[in-house]
Amino acid sequence: MKILVANLGSTSFKYSLYEGDDSALTLLARGGYERVSDYGETIRDAISSMKKDGHIDSVDSIDAVGFKTVLGFEKTGCVAADDSVVADLRASAELAPAHNPAYANGIEQFAKEMPNAQLVALYETAFYQWASKPSRRYAVPKAWYEAGVRRNGFHGASHKFVAERSAELLGREDVAQQVRFLYQKDQSELPGKPLRVVSCHLGGSSSVTGIRNGVAIDTSMGLSPQSGLPQNNRVGDLDSMAVTYVMKKLGLSIEEVERQLTKESGLLGLSGKSNDVRDIWAAVDAGDDDAKLAIDSLVYSIRQYVGSYMLQLGGLDALVFTAGIGENDTRVRERVCQGLEDLGLELDLDKNAVTRGEETCISAANSRIKIFVIPANEELVIARETSRFLSHNK
Ligand code: AMP
Repeated sequence: MKILVANLGSTSFKYSLYEGDDSALTLLARGGYERVSDYGETIRDAISSMKKDGHIDSVDSIDAVGFKTVLGFEKTGCVAADDSVVADLRASAELAPAHNPAYANGIEQFAKEMPNAQLVALYETAFYQWASKPSRRYAVPKAWYEAGVRRNGFHGASHKFVAERSAELLGREDVAQQVRFLYQKDQSELPGKPLRVVSCHLGGSSSVTGIRNGVAIDTSMGLSPQSGLPQNNRVGDLDSMAVTYVMKKLGLSIEEVERQLTKESGLLGLSGKSNDVRDIWAAVDAGDDDAKLAIDSLVYSIRQYVGSYMLQLGGLDALVFTAGIGENDTRVRERVCQGLEDLGLELDLDKNAVTRGEETCISAANSRIKIFVIPANEELVIARETSRFLSHNK
């Protein structure tokens, strides 16, 4: 089976072509386009290039296309990307303006260009669909909730990969097997001794998720990817009163408040230097206090969520780091794990120092809680879930 994973931005298109089934997928080709003005033409060009390189005979060689859709009001899970998905992406575009229109338009174009391929949407919110009501509900009037103001959660593909892989690494094949089919049946009541994992996806955009038996119990992002940890240039958690306060106090318009909260806040706002942790560390090393505060705040916030989910889970079996910062930044990992020996969590400083984006166990031999680095691979997750969807919907 050949599966194309389509990563769509408002003017970009990246693709990965896989062959195999969900138990073993091989990456055949990868490509991308920037400044896309005509999606149809770009899709045709990508197909020609895969043909030229001998990966496919014709457009009909592609059995399915998987999309990492972000957010829908009505939809979540891993579903056929049909007209109702497109309509729902458009209806909820206000909350994901950078992604939803691109996916709505892209899915329509793929349906035209590849009429014989099964189109599949894996929502970023899918991983949270069985989280408890209190974890999903803000304390707002019911009319707000009905209008869509709820905790959705994001980075679902990444955290689901961690849920599956960490279960495998911990020898819990029973849990891994159940996670594999998380979107094909209701898994809210998984049997077995609870496996408790906290997954830290730390990158340009970051979130922490608590996972019991492979099912998310809560996550740091909410209605939009704007909440939770301080992001590269987005604010993270903020008291809602701050918005109206600065509008009055600083005379800012709502558009300007939104711009500053989404473009000039987070690590950039705190450090005043950069939205990239590497630059911020360089400034810390040069003695910059604002840069130090940015790193301290990031670590503080990560630990707040890890601690909260450890309590909700009633303990922890593994703490996992993934994504750009999680996989590469030894100092952030060291700071997050500092002083937690009494809770059963101890880092092996040597193992932590040598890790560079490779899957590794970095906890000390006597640490009761395992600490892993698991490299993120969201494209592979989309391809796997697309393959699983196909095998369940023959
Ligand atoms: P991602 O969103 O997962 O692609 O992660 C991108 C972010 O990872 C960048 O903005 C950097 O802040 C961070 N990053 C990448 N490489 C490193 C590194 N070697 N050390 C620290 N942070 C890194």
